[in-house]
Amino acid sequence: MALPLADVGYDLHTHSAFSDGTTSPTQIAAEAAAVGLLGFALTDHDTINGWGEARAGAAQHGVSFLPGIEITTKHRGHSRHLLGYGMNPAHGELFTALTQVRDARLVRVKEMVRRVSVDYAITLEDVVGTGDVATVGRPHIADALVVKGYFVDRSTAFEQVLHPGSPYYLGTYAIETGEAIRLVRAAEGVSVLAHPAAFRQRAATSVAHLAELAAAGLWGIELAHPENRGDWLPPLTAAAAELGLEVTGSSDYHGDGKPNRLGEHRTGVEVVERLRAIVATPH
Ligand code: AMP
Ligand code: ZN
Ligand code: FE
Ligand code: FE
Repeated sequence: MALPLADVGYDLHTHSAFSDGTTSPTQIAAEAAAVGLLGFALTDHDTINGWGEARAGAAQHGVSFLPGIEITTKHRGHSRHLLGYGMNPAHGELFTALTQVRDARLVRVKEMVRRVSVDYAITLEDVVGTGDVATVGRPHIADALVVKGYFVDRSTAFEQVLHPGSPYYLGTYAIETGEAIRLVRAAEGVSVLAHPAAFRQRAATSVAHLAELAAAGLWGIELAHPENRGDWLPPLTAAAAELGLEVTGSSDYHGDGKPNRLGEHRTGVEVVERLRAIVATPH
């Protein structure tokens, strides 16, 4: 089945240095213009702190901006990343829940740093001591290990030290996916299941689980993503059509933190038009 790859369109999944990207929202806007995107969504993990700068940067560089987020959630025990778009920050319930997620992430990073520091000379200061980072995570531990010369890049640090099977690894608090979908809707936004067939998972999201999330109010599914496994996609592509889900494609750009290139997958104009017609804060 053909994927909805769009040549002209939007990249609806990007991370800035407000979470674990390595570039500023302004730099993402400049890059979006350079690669010919009509616009982009900033979807930092569990924070919207980058929205103001991204909106200004988009105006400056002549591309459009969609406010977004990637929420740390879990469904039936499986880690699931949920993209939210167009939420109105005046609805406090979602943002209170996100504060809990970020606070728990800091506690978790502290404990992981304690474990890692038994074998590698890094401190909490090395990991969280700089900048405007709102949401900390394993990528920041990886970056500290790279700065100290233990690994050549973030991906190698993940493979050697930070992967879920590692003795240094610790999970983190996640909102139930159904609850996060409800909170996004209550804030007048829409939600999209991120990278449902990502190769680092043991298996793709099952069709049965996807149907449960659709029943909970999920709006779309990110079928085009650099980490989705092509051989896992056909059942999800068929289920998305059957369940009436919108289909997006995006890069999950993290600056230099991942090989993903901005705009390598794109979402079509009509999908973004339908999204804009229903959310609270269209641009
Ligand atoms: P966390 O939410 O703190 O557990 O960290 C997950 C983040 O690390 C996600 O944004 C992933 O994109 C990133 N990540 C996971 N595995 C890797 C990897 N092998 N190389 C680079 N980044 C990764
Ligand atoms: Zn990330
Ligand atoms: Fe993700
Ligand atoms: Fe992401």
